[in-house]
Amino acid sequence: MAKYIFVTGGVTSSLGKGIIAASLAKLLQARGLKVTIQKFDPYINIDPGTLNPYEHGECFVTDDGAETDLDLGHYERFLNIPTSQANNVTTGRIYQTVINKERAGDYLGKTVQVIPHITDEIKRRMLLLGNEGKYDIVITEIGGTVGDIESLPFVEAVRQLQWEMPEEDCMVVHLTLIPYLRAAKELKTKPTQHSVRMLSQEGVHPNVIVCRTEQPLNDELKKKIALFCNVKPNAVIEAMDASTIYEVPLKMLQEGLDVIVLKKLQINGYAAPELTKWRAFLDKLKYPQSKVTIGLIGKYIELQDAYKSILESFIHAGAINECKVQIVNVHSEFITDDNVKEKLKDLDGLLVAPGFGHRGVEGKIIAVKYARENQLPFFGICLGMQMAVIEFARNVLGWADAHSTEMNPTTNFPVIDLMEDQKNIETKGGTMRLGAFPCDIKQGSLAHTIYGTTHISERHRHRWEFNNKYITDFQKAGMVPSGKNPGTGLVEIVELPDHPFFIGVQYHPELKSTVENPQPIFVHFIKAAKTFSEKKESVKNPLLQSEMI
Ligand code: GLN
Repeated sequence: MAKYIFVTGGVTSSLGKGIIAASLAKLLQARGLKVTIQKFDPYINIDPGTLNPYEHGECFVTDDGAETDLDLGHYERFLNIPTSQANNVTTGRIYQTVINKERAGDYLGKTVQVIPHITDEIKRRMLLLGNEGKYDIVITEIGGTVGDIESLPFVEAVRQLQWEMPEEDCMVVHLTLIPYLRAAKELKTKPTQHSVRMLSQEGVHPNVIVCRTEQPLNDELKKKIALFCNVKPNAVIEAMDASTIYEVPLKMLQEGLDVIVLKKLQINGYAAPELTKWRAFLDKLKYPQSKVTIGLIGKYIELQDAYKSILESFIHAGAINECKVQIVNVHSEFITDDNVKEKLKDLDGLLVAPGFGHRGVEGKIIAVKYARENQLPFFGICLGMQMAVIEFARNVLGWADAHSTEMNPTTNFPVIDLMEDQKNIETKGGTMRLGAFPCDIKQGSLAHTIYGTTHISERHRHRWEFNNKYITDFQKAGMVPSGKNPGTGLVEIVELPDHPFFIGVQYHPELKSTVENPQPIFVHFIKAAKTFSEKKESVKNPLLQSEMI
């Protein structure tokens, strides 16, 4: 029988519920428990797949092809175990199930209502992963902020579950903000009191209050929060701003969050937390021996959440290389032939990001050309790989109007094109090529060196593909398709053997990078960037060059 922890948020959004949930899960996992985390989002979209990154940040894709909230990325990166469709549920999905049942006649004769029909469906899904028998603990993060109209049915479902379950099987952790008023030089507890009161009015009483704060909470303040929020003082947890999200589990350990949870859930005989690997990673992250500068070429660079998994993958890959990875965001819309050198000359590596639509693609193509011609390590992901193919077609094969039919449906050289089975698809949600697919890697290629194997599986999220009609032309001119789908022959990886490091992948390797298993392309890309940077230094400083000889 699994036990359930619900994480709610109060006062404001963006407090980092996902990180707190993942940190708590990490600590419980480090004590030997089997833990998973799921997220319930209150919006009406069936999933975030149809949302613009400006709306909701990155869309995280799971092995089973679910388009999910970016918090699932944190869960995987922290816990090093994959999530699935069941780990992310939206209001839209709940209503869709209930409405489909209504149409099928499952409720014949009855009025279908929020309570009990919607709340029953929410509860069923909240318990789903726990019923699989695989987990000791299921943590459920409730999206949104307590008091929002749209999250009410979720809170009501939590209330009912708390009432139905034995007390030791279920608990609520409430994350809140203690703002610091600079002028008054004071931390303020009132917003927290109000948010807990609001939660209580909805029938749910939190067992633990986690307080996000810029300043430490002293005992007196903790006591005050405890008294007015009706929890014991040791159940008031300080969550000070951390220099990296990966430090949060250790901060929560210091505060004893895991111990309070274990006590409340009456889990006895747990082991001391095994966090050796985690601490080693943090040490490397904090004390790098070198530094590289990587250009991230994208069109959503104003919003860091749009490339969340890529940025985190760089943190993992940097740490293992003991190298600080400084990311320079370059807006692809503003790259031109005239300014490309100026914009990219200080980089040690170039990553062209995924994306959709024509905005900013010409700038991406110019950036790829610069990396190819200047031996700058290049890594293209999804649209980034497609741009590398187009650039090669235009500037090496000499096909001036080569393009993807996504951007130019009438091009003479559709080097990136829609697959036949995508051509008749008209609906948008969930209809891309989604989820994990196998890929066979060519012996002796860069990809082979990187992965150390010839069979891999990576996650996809795209519609367009390399057009195999042109494969021999590319091969003859020096671009190697080094990874292919074994069933369909679709090209998944391209590389340039006469370049120090040039690789484009149709899939999204960033979705599988975790603290304990940094993604190998990122790891090797940083290695290549280090070599590039060392060479640059030795050219700048001949003394260093002679020493190296
Ligand atoms: N727009 C491209 C496609 O659909 C690339 C998608 C992506 O980068 N995720 O194929």
